[in-house]
Amino acid sequence: MDCIFCKIANGVIKTDFLYEDDKVVAFKDINPVAPAHVLIVPKKHIESALLIEGEDFNLIGHVFKVAQKLAKELGISEDGFRIVNNCNRAGGQTVMHIHFHLLGGRDMQWPPG
Ligand code: AMP
Ligand code: ZN
Repeated sequence: MDCIFCKIANGVIKTDFLYEDDKVVAFKDINPVAPAHVLIVPKKHIESALLIEGEDFNLIGHVFKVAQKLAKELGISEDGFRIVNNCNRAGGQTVMHIHFHLLGGRDMQWPPG
């Protein structure tokens, strides 16, 4: 399957991981929009948040556990951070392999663009 995040998560495209276990990887976004901008990506190819089902809901819970750990390590946990999932076209999803943006290091705006 021609999916860039599958290739990154499975080591076909060499990437420095901030975190890796058997279920997820985390790496810096290539086009950061905040001082800290990390993508947390399940190794399993799930296209979008709309297509999470069954056991995969546990996997998404695990993503949030990893986000907690990374936020602490990146020093953004106390000030605060944002976890974003863009779903489908109007949600701004450009890579059709589910991923979560961990953003921090600056004050976030609300509402988002
Ligand atoms: P989204 O718009 O939510 O689908 O987010 C996709 C994100 O992936 C964007 O923030 C891109 O900058 C990022 N991205 C795309 N290709 C790469 C890559 N090869 N390495 C790191 N980040 C990437
Ligand atoms: Zn994929």
